[in-house]
Amino acid sequence: MTEAPTDADARRAARPLVCYQVEQLPPNNLELYQQARTTAAAVGEVVVPPRDGRCFEVPAGHFFRIHSVDGPQVGDLNLWNAHDLGERFFSGKTRQLHATHVSTGDRLWSSLPGLRPMATITHDTLDWYGWDADGGGIHDVIGTRCDPYTNHLLKGVDYHHCCHSNLTRALVAATGLPAAEAELHVHDVLNVFMCTGFTLDTHQYFMKASPVRPGDFIEFFAEMDLLGALSACPGGDCGSSHSDDSTPCYPLRVEILEPAEAALANWTPPPRSGYSRSHGL
Ligand SMILES: [Zn+2]
Repeated sequence: MTEAPTDADARRAARPLVCYQVEQLPPNNLELYQQARTTAAAVGEVVVPPRDGRCFEVPAGHFFRIHSVDGPQVGDLNLWNAHDLGERFFSGKTRQLHATHVSTGDRLWSSLPGLRPMATITHDTLDWYGWDADGGGIHDVIGTRCDPYTNHLLKGVDYHHCCHSNLTRALVAATGLPAAEAELHVHDVLNVFMCTGFTLDTHQYFMKASPVRPGDFIEFFAEMDLLGALSACPGGDCGSSHSDDSTPCYPLRVEILEPAEAALANWTPPPRSGYSRSHGL
């Protein structure tokens, strides 16, 4: 609609800057965690059925792995401070501090005012994927989660096994909260194993069939006592549709692992943000 100014090309040629000085982030302790993981032994597991959700707890200093089993399946992950549901995974800030998609060494940051690492990714068997020719990558923090409201808006039908509802039911089962209250704690997710990006021409959010196969896993170090919830998305590998029962879906297995105590002798959990919270008042 608007005619470009005569200096449009010059304005577009401004140099892009990475918004945050991410080199000033506290170090990610990856070396310590890589050593600790070699001593880790499984102490528990939760199997998430297809098109459903389950909660799991991970003590600080433990690892958890999300495994692909039986077939390619995408998972939607929520994380809360196990002692305070008000501190939860902050996908938007994680995206700004790392990238649209995360892998080994990246951290999952918590909501304000905590703003500290909740978990650090310590292993990712899909790290070979990189960026494909469509601009797609794996494990995104750009999507939200499929939900029955958007589905109703677009199709005019009620579907009860979107990730938003699966996570809500899982949180109700884990906490005993009423559904209406639990739902408000469900938040934007880490899309585990999901292959997504923005179309190169129109910059629209796209998904394509996940390259995950049984045997693949992504592993996290818990920086605090965590309550997690994972949904096995009704989209399956998200290669065709979601928010319906038309796609083959498979379970996901969450494994909790405890490292040898001595391996973390020098580790301390990250503190909450040091900002005064006075906001200039
Ligand atoms: Zn979903």
